[in-house]
Amino acid sequence: MASKYIALPKGVSEKSFDAAVKEFRRVLGEAHVLVKAEQLAPYTKTMMPVPDADHTASAAIMATTVEQIQKIVGICNKYKVPIWTISTGKNLGYGSAAPAERGQVVLDLHRMNRILEVDGDLCYALVEPGVTYRQLYDYFQEHKLPLWLSVPAPSAIAGPTGNTMDRGVGYTPYGEHFLNACGMEVVLANGEILRTAMGGLSKSNTWQCFKWGYGPYLDGIFTQSNYGIVTKFGFWLQPAPPVCKPFQIQYQNEADVEEIVEIMRPLRISGVIPNSGVIAHALYEAALKAKRSDYVKGPGSISDDAVRQLVSDHKMGIWNVYAALYGTKEQVDVNWKIVTDAFGKSGKAKFLTEEDVGDDPQFGYRAVLMRGGMDMREFSLYNWRGGGGSLWFAPVSQARGSETLKQMKLAKQILSRHGLDYTGEFIVGLRDMHHILDMVYDRTDPEMTKAAYQCFDELITEFSALGYGSYRTNTAFMNKVAETYGPVQRSINRRLKKALDPNGILAPGKSGIR
Ligand SMILES: Cc1cc2nc3c(=O)[nH]c(=O)nc-3n(C[C@H](O)[C@H](O)[C@H](O)COP(=O)(O)OP(=O)(O)OC[C@H]3O[C@@H](n4cnc5c(N)ncnc54)[C@H](O)[C@@H]3O)c2cc1C
Repeated sequence: MASKYIALPKGVSEKSFDAAVKEFRRVLGEAHVLVKAEQLAPYTKTMMPVPDADHTASAAIMATTVEQIQKIVGICNKYKVPIWTISTGKNLGYGSAAPAERGQVVLDLHRMNRILEVDGDLCYALVEPGVTYRQLYDYFQEHKLPLWLSVPAPSAIAGPTGNTMDRGVGYTPYGEHFLNACGMEVVLANGEILRTAMGGLSKSNTWQCFKWGYGPYLDGIFTQSNYGIVTKFGFWLQPAPPVCKPFQIQYQNEADVEEIVEIMRPLRISGVIPNSGVIAHALYEAALKAKRSDYVKGPGSISDDAVRQLVSDHKMGIWNVYAALYGTKEQVDVNWKIVTDAFGKSGKAKFLTEEDVGDDPQFGYRAVLMRGGMDMREFSLYNWRGGGGSLWFAPVSQARGSETLKQMKLAKQILSRHGLDYTGEFIVGLRDMHHILDMVYDRTDPEMTKAAYQCFDELITEFSALGYGSYRTNTAFMNKVAETYGPVQRSINRRLKKALDPNGILAPGKSGIR
């Protein structure tokens, strides 16, 4: 007889799962336990080059309170049912809302969406996991609070809890999101509620002010992990500065990226440029202005000549540098002089400010993001190829010019072996540099999908062999990336897992941990 479920958790019989579903329904109500194929479709659609069947959820359940989550983990322990937690569920290009493994139950917290506190003096917020950036943005506007968010490019539809749990980034001076996290409430696998750091004292009012508390600092172990379910999340907000001056600097040769990073690093470390400096290759932004089919006929990756033509047709740089200055007018003027002197020295840089470009979409969306605003134009990346396939490759290096060209050359070699384009950017942090590639491919084309899988696998293998570890990856490659960090880290992660979640009910497989 055919099962009434589209998937079952590994090792769980239909009879046991039936009993678990019945208990979930008693806790959450009939309407908030989804098991039908059409209800689960939004939780199954990934952009990864693997069959959706590998990531099909057995159910999706929606909780709104901490007490419900405590009961859910109780049921999961009883029936050995694994749950995959999402907050706003927009982890696009990293696995979306789908579970890491077939049959896991998605615990969807998007309805748990209260803004619990915003302190305008101390500039922090405490939110539930389902709160979106759009919700907070609207809240600040409504209450006339001069506070800024730092958002990832999907801005409006994503949220601070999920983004920070996967250690995501934004584009303001608060863009390293976990650095600005302060205080979490976590439901553990045994149902206990942990409030981290100062949250341990019942009368403390410093939970969102002082990160470290006393004793080991625990917040980190709940990010990119499967040790708990975060139910409250505190983080710091930037006071709106009197002036923000975003700028773009265009360069016309691929080799110039070495010089750009050498100039950018000291300006970042000294704080002259307080937000992460993005150095976007033309192909990362091309779809905002051009169609791939106008430059490439037939299969294979785009040629360097075609890229040069595209850049000249659309007045882009081969490299497009974005950053911003923040502060009073006097501070910004002084820093602008420092920036233009430094980048202007070699005579290769073309400076553009908002006044120069009007409503140019390329600079326009970056400028909005550097103010923590809502702008989804980066999704144009998916018009470049079409077909909806995307995997983010995100190796980390030192912030040195000498780290750029060799990485780009290697990435281009691997991508072109598989007929894919180099859609990349470098992001200069404080001492680190993220090399971000969106490996876009046509997921409706089975051959290209196969090639994309192989290509991503080779990118991880070849980059990690040179010491470039990925800071984050999609659910199809978590195990492979975890391997690259060596046996001792894996073993400690496993031992922590056994101690905190002996039945392995929380997101088995996340970051390769089970
Ligand atoms: C065009 C495009 C541009 C992008 N740009 C950026 C960018 O600039 N910066 C960036 O960081 N990302 C970027 N992304 C990736 C992604 O869309 C964002 O990181 C997004 O914020 C993640 O989705 P979310 O916030 O809904 O988190 P979720 O999907 O809710 O959560 C992400 C992961 O965190 C864990 N998690 C979530 N909630 C909890 C919880 N309550 N307890 C424990 N663990 C939990 C789970 O493992 C989950 O899979 C981009 C994606 C696209 C398509």
